[in-house]
Amino acid sequence: MDTSKSKTAFDEAKKYIPGGVNSPVRAFKNVGTYPLFIERANGSKIYDIDGNEYIDYVGSWGPMFLGHCKEIVLEAVKEACDKGMSFGAPCLAETELAKRICSLVPCVDVVRMVNSGTEATMSAIRLARGYTGRNIIIKFEGCYHGHSDSLLIKAGSGAATFGSASSAGVPEDFAKYTLVLPYNDIDAIEDAFEKMGNEIAGVIIEPVAGNMGVVPPKDGYLQKIREITKKYGSVFIVDEVMTGFRLSASGAIGRFGLDADIVTFGKIIGGGMPVGAYGGKREIMEFVSPTGPVYQAGTLSGNPLAMAAGNAQIKYLQENPYIYEEIEQKGAYLESEFKKSAEKYGVNVRVNRVGSMMSVFFTDNDVTNFETASKSNTEKFKVYFNEMLKQGIYLAPSQFESLFLSDAHTKADLEKTAAAFDKVMEILR
Ligand SMILES: *Cc1c(COP(=O)(O)O)cnc(C)c1O
Repeated sequence: MDTSKSKTAFDEAKKYIPGGVNSPVRAFKNVGTYPLFIERANGSKIYDIDGNEYIDYVGSWGPMFLGHCKEIVLEAVKEACDKGMSFGAPCLAETELAKRICSLVPCVDVVRMVNSGTEATMSAIRLARGYTGRNIIIKFEGCYHGHSDSLLIKAGSGAATFGSASSAGVPEDFAKYTLVLPYNDIDAIEDAFEKMGNEIAGVIIEPVAGNMGVVPPKDGYLQKIREITKKYGSVFIVDEVMTGFRLSASGAIGRFGLDADIVTFGKIIGGGMPVGAYGGKREIMEFVSPTGPVYQAGTLSGNPLAMAAGNAQIKYLQENPYIYEEIEQKGAYLESEFKKSAEKYGVNVRVNRVGSMMSVFFTDNDVTNFETASKSNTEKFKVYFNEMLKQGIYLAPSQFESLFLSDAHTKADLEKTAAAFDKVMEILR
């Protein structure tokens, strides 16, 4: 496979863009190669500038749940485009999308649109602090909630100590207000609340972790957090930027029958346009400006093109609920084929999957949190990634990401993927 045009393009990009990319994971640094430059995409396929075709399991990191260039989404955007790109004033499409989200997600009474998942979680945290008058936020090791200062914190040493910044440029003083706990550990969260429950503004979590690879929550874990946050008057923030409208028409909240105070969205609600949103209980959301004292704003928030794309995609999902059953079956098929091949060649893997999110970890221990995920053999992952790519399968270029299925993946795509995986297992045995 010739990808030399991508290589040249990357060298050129590096002259003008830091590291040649506008989001770090795109640089393919973890897999020892250079990124492919994409020219176009359609359905389940993407095409690089050398003209190679791939079955795409990244889906722009989640938004393309219906596949690329879904006709109804494109039409809606084109129509909106003809009427004007941005007004900086209210438009009907904003209410329409807000209404859809509120009607689908049970604990969301009102919702505010922003431009990215990062903005959504950053604003949700400010709101939790503003609403409770407290400072401390709890997050979980391995969960990613975007790149705002309060959330770029990693675990410190010892169970209940505060974290330290996971990025340069985040003042250590900020880390004092973020407590980082292990995922799936009920005792850790109970301990934290016993010690300082009355100072904790909120808890933010990925209901199914996707940013340390896929890690499902243990039975009752999320419900326990709901209980304990309620008891101490802390705000429970469920970050559905990845899982929203993916794990069910009402996200992980619907799938697990969960209650939350604030829910954050992004990715799928924008249909491929830059959108985020945060919503929740009216009493809390009314603390947001202009009704309340918590300031948050955006020149392009509720952008008519983005709203058109989001409305079209979510409306389609509302009208075609069978998509969720089908995608569940697609996931189950890939999972079982992958496991069969790994077993056949005696390669140690753990396949974690929830619906259309799946990760193959190269390890022989169960992956239930960041610590166990970190034990994976990233050298084997590198071989897996590069060999799959050679066979025309485009996966996320990191062990600690999810594979995303879309409605556009066909049986033939899945069979080709399973066959490619089988070959890789033969190489890795
Ligand atoms: C992608 C993601 C974010 C950040 O969204 P951006 O649009 O990239 O800023 C936040 N939380 C979760 C769970 C995500 O997967």
